[in-house]
Amino acid sequence: MTDISSLLVQPPPSWPEKYSGIPARLADIGNQTREKIYAGRSLPRVAPRKQGEELPVLPPDITRERFNEAVAELRKEIGEANVELNDKPLVDGWYMEHPNTHDAFHILEQDDTVSSATIYPGSTEEVQTTVRWANKYLIPIYPISMGRNLGYGGAAPRIRGAMVLDLGKRMNKVLKIDPDNCSCLVEPGVSYFALYEAVQATGYPLWIDTPDLGGGSVLGNAVDRGVGYTPYGDHFGCHCGMEVVLPTGEVVRTGMGALPGKDGEDNPCWQSFQYGYGPYNDGIFTQSNFGIVTKMGFWLMPATEHTSYLITFRDEDQYPQIMQTIRPLAINKVLGNVPQLRHVIQELAVTGKPKSHFYDGEGPIPREVIRKWAKDMPCGDCSWVFYGTVYGPDDFRKGQLDIIRREFGKIEGSRLMLPEKLPQDHYLHSRVSVCSGVPVLRELDWLNWLPNGAHLFFAPIAPTSGEDVKKLFELCRKRHEEYGIDLFPTLCVASRESHVIVNLVYDRSSPASKKAAYDCLRAMISDAAAGGYGEYRTHILFADQVANTYNWGGGALMKLNETLKDALDPNGILAPGRNGIWPERYRGKGYEIFPGDQRTSSLPPHINA
Ligand code: ADP
Repeated sequence: MTDISSLLVQPPPSWPEKYSGIPARLADIGNQTREKIYAGRSLPRVAPRKQGEELPVLPPDITRERFNEAVAELRKEIGEANVELNDKPLVDGWYMEHPNTHDAFHILEQDDTVSSATIYPGSTEEVQTTVRWANKYLIPIYPISMGRNLGYGGAAPRIRGAMVLDLGKRMNKVLKIDPDNCSCLVEPGVSYFALYEAVQATGYPLWIDTPDLGGGSVLGNAVDRGVGYTPYGDHFGCHCGMEVVLPTGEVVRTGMGALPGKDGEDNPCWQSFQYGYGPYNDGIFTQSNFGIVTKMGFWLMPATEHTSYLITFRDEDQYPQIMQTIRPLAINKVLGNVPQLRHVIQELAVTGKPKSHFYDGEGPIPREVIRKWAKDMPCGDCSWVFYGTVYGPDDFRKGQLDIIRREFGKIEGSRLMLPEKLPQDHYLHSRVSVCSGVPVLRELDWLNWLPNGAHLFFAPIAPTSGEDVKKLFELCRKRHEEYGIDLFPTLCVASRESHVIVNLVYDRSSPASKKAAYDCLRAMISDAAAGGYGEYRTHILFADQVANTYNWGGGALMKLNETLKDALDPNGILAPGRNGIWPERYRGKGYEIFPGDQRTSSLPPHINA
């Protein structure tokens, strides 16, 4: 085991000293979280690079001499310190000290999806300069805002040796908070922690919406179509206006931003009306590689009163009935937010204790063992736990809670609990924060389930129906048993559809554990597609497979995406392969990874040889 004291000499970076740091209100929790994570880590903190490989790793189709010439030119244009070569040992760090050189949650080898360098532009103009430079040298660049997209590839580029364009480090301003319009305009490096603090500092009664963890980029998460848990939880749905640098270097503003304001001002409706005039382009800049978003507007929710609650359900097989109860309540907006239905195993994991604390046998933790532990926890011996929140004045919330109590009460053995009845360290208190727009760190706790814990997400969309969710759970259960992995299902119910989020936790030090998670995810994607279900988001290395399941009409959608890609990015420099979209220069040359592919590296076999 690593001597953790040597890793903890410095406190985690704090905000605002560091744009991506942790605010003072969470300093202690940050320290404790880091300590717990490192206590379960046996991998060395710093990994030496592979012997004999010249560094930095180059992108495809370029000589070292030409690469060096390109780096020197870009350094001259945007500053020596703003182009950093990736030629040092790799450090996985942890959530608050994440790398921008590779995927900290590596699922193949640690150095598989490494970059050659990181570029730090300081303005939209410098992004344009960089893009034009990339076109000249045909170097692939991969934009990130914060790079904390853990479980989906982190900061790693899809192409080994591409350059990471880290927008957040020098472009991290909250440009505007408008208390009357209830909106804001941000740059890529504004985290949920930072936006929350900025709003608090104004004193305006406004809420932000945060995902489970608060360290991500507000803009980056919306561009990847992430979700949160207040009534404003659809992050893309609640954005209003973008500024985008196209892959050939031009800048566009979308929506009302395309209409210049008086005397050179930004248009006053840029953050008020999403659509502007003409085709609605914003969608093509999300989950794609069609542009680099440099500014983005968001709506903020007026602060309101709120009550979070949990409901436990006794039996494992009650979830179809639970889903049937949820759907009309969600569609009728009696459920105020995006509620979560979590399997009781998560009550154990979110205590932050390792699996070995609960069970030291082989394979997945047995159901009876989960029951034994749950019995002594506040949730009691149950199978499912539903976390919800209602909003508005007292009489609103009371009315909603009465209906919720009545409808869920029809499910035998269900019990509703309010926060005041639960101990201070119970997870419901963290939901109270998240569901009222206060960003936290709590969700990291279940990474301690396995030593060197990392995770992948399987994230299919299901109709909010008992029958559909049952089919998806059954296939997950079957595959998890086959690969010997604990099943952690959470349903985030948007109303007509549910995001079925399954966290595949694995041990980064164990090739067998990684392979099991990798193969299990591939199998589940294929099984789900055969039943008509597709993922809303996936890890960079699974993007080809997922994109290929959206193949109605002979792959008509991908043909459209490829037409757009080739028109917008004729040299194929921007994030090739992101979301399974390959520019012509790389297409069909062995980069795509489909199920059944036995390669152990993300590179095409001929390049790897
Ligand atoms: P977070 O730190 O919030 O998790 P990231 O910065 O890692 O988010 O962004 C998630 C993904 O979204 C990135 O891997 C990238 O593909 C895409 N992305 C992020 N920011 C931008 C941007 N400004 N322009 C274009 N794509 C982006």
